[in-house]
Amino acid sequence: MAESSHLTGVSFEQLADLAAASRILARQEVVDAFGHVSIRHPARPDRYLLSRSIAPALVTPGDIVEYDLDSNSIDPDAPKGFLERFIHGEIYRSRPDVGAVVHSHSPSVIPFGLIDRPMHAMFHNAAFLSAGVPTFDISRNFGATDMLVCDCAKGRALAETLGDKDVALMRAHGSVACGLKLEIAVFRAIYTEVNARIQTWTTGLAENGTIAFLSEEEGQLADLPNQTAGMRAWDLWREEVRSSTGW
Ligand SMILES: [Zn+2]
Repeated sequence: MAESSHLTGVSFEQLADLAAASRILARQEVVDAFGHVSIRHPARPDRYLLSRSIAPALVTPGDIVEYDLDSNSIDPDAPKGFLERFIHGEIYRSRPDVGAVVHSHSPSVIPFGLIDRPMHAMFHNAAFLSAGVPTFDISRNFGATDMLVCDCAKGRALAETLGDKDVALMRAHGSVACGLKLEIAVFRAIYTEVNARIQTWTTGLAENGTIAFLSEEEGQLADLPNQTAGMRAWDLWREEVRSSTGW
């Protein structure tokens, strides 16, 4: 018998894909005990879906909660949500083109939020970075904080820094990656982490020499196949989760 969804207007397969995305990001070491991934509600663009507050590797389809863009759960009896769910609500509010958001603290990316040197697209799989990678410094608007994006005002400031880009760094915290759909946001979060490693290696090798990273034009061209043939990566990662969970 096919399993059913506990949310109106959302199929079980959509919940399963979102739960799988969480586990994929954990397997790829983009998230650990922390970090989260969401999708815009498929039938209600003014809502989004995100798991309850739980380690990403443990998420199941039944853990997905529906939120409005103020990041209040639709079900008043929903289980406790992530403190930083406002990241998702405010990005969906400011970016109608975004259908999925990943927030992570992936370690190789952190240094680029701490230094006054931009992250560049070092290879074709990270082509989406060639448009530019802004850094959100929470202290700029909010002074000394616990660094968490824990209300709408902080989420809005982060969304403003992100602007029309796909990825933003968060100083001394982590990063966000977005996409039109779940598969693309997951791909970008994973390849932002890989790109950060490659840029660190390359900078060490180059010493003071030039680094021939992708130009913005090359990045625009190379991002197109990533969004089609590149989705082979999603099929592989999704199957790995399905073979261990059955969904
Ligand atoms: Zn965080």
